[in-house]
Amino acid sequence: MKLKRPRKSARSKRPASKRPRHAPARAARDPLLARMAGADHREVGGVSIDTTRTANGRVKRVCYPPGFRWSTHMKPLVNTPLCMHAHVGFLARGRVRGTYADGCTFDLAAPRAVVIEPGHDAWVVGKQAAVLIEFDTESSTAARFGLPDSHRHA
Ligand SMILES: [Zn+2]
Repeated sequence: MKLKRPRKSARSKRPASKRPRHAPARAARDPLLARMAGADHREVGGVSIDTTRTANGRVKRVCYPPGFRWSTHMKPLVNTPLCMHAHVGFLARGRVRGTYADGCTFDLAAPRAVVIEPGHDAWVVGKQAAVLIEFDTESSTAARFGLPDSHRHA
C-alpha cells in the first residue's frame, strides 16, 4: 500500500487568523483592490464601493467581503425586502449565489459577465471576496439594459 505524502499548504507559514483581510500593501499592488482613480469611495454594510461618473452613466467597482449576504448586511440599511438594483457587469473575482422571490436561483463564478435583475437576495460563497465591475445609470439602470423592474417571467 502506498502512503500519501502529507500535502504542504501554501498558506502554512501563516495561520488564516493572522492574515489581514485587506492588507494595504497587498491592496495597493492588486489593481482589483487598489485605490481607483477619480472614484468616490464608500463602505456600506461591509461592502466597498468605488463609483465614477462615466459618459452618461457610472462605472462602479464593488467588493463584497467573504461572508457577505445582502439580506443580513444590507437589507437593514435599505428598507426593501430584496435588493432592487439591477446589476450588469463583470464579476472579476469570487463567487456569488442568489435567489429571486419566485425561487429562481443564480450561481456566478468569476470570471464572467453578469446580469442580475432587481428583486433578489445574494451572498458571497467561499473565502474570497467577490469583486464586481458594474455599469449603471442609477435608478434607470434596469430600463436602460432592457430588464424588468423586478424579476419575472414573460
Ligand atoms: Zn424566476
